[in-house]
Amino acid sequence: MNSNPRRDIKFACFNCRKSFERNVACIENTMACPECKKKAFRYDHKFRPPKKEDDKQWKLVQFLKENGFYFQRILKKDGSRAVYPENLREAAVFVKEYADQAIE
Ligand SMILES: [Zn+2]
Repeated sequence: MNSNPRRDIKFACFNCRKSFERNVACIENTMACPECKKKAFRYDHKFRPPKKEDDKQWKLVQFLKENGFYFQRILKKDGSRAVYPENLREAAVFVKEYADQAIE
C-alpha cells in the first residue's frame, strides 16, 4: 500500500504530445509547457498519454478535452466508474452521456 497520499499532478502538452508531472500544490488548470512554452493542460494522474506518433489517440484525447473530459473520474448511473472511450465514435456518445460531469 502506498502510505503517501500525495498525488503528482499531470499536465499534457498537445504541441509536444507529452505529459509531465508537477508535485507542487498546484491550483492552476494550465501551465506553460517546459519545452515549447505553449499551454499545457492539467490532467488526472490516471491519464496515460498516447505515443507521440499516435495521431488517432491524440485526436481522441483532444476531442475529450474540448468537451471537458480530462480523464477525471466519471461515474455511471449505478455509481461505478465509467471507462473512457477508445475511439472517436465511442467518445461522441461518451461526451453526451456524461456531459453533466464535464469540467467547464
Ligand atoms: Zn510543449
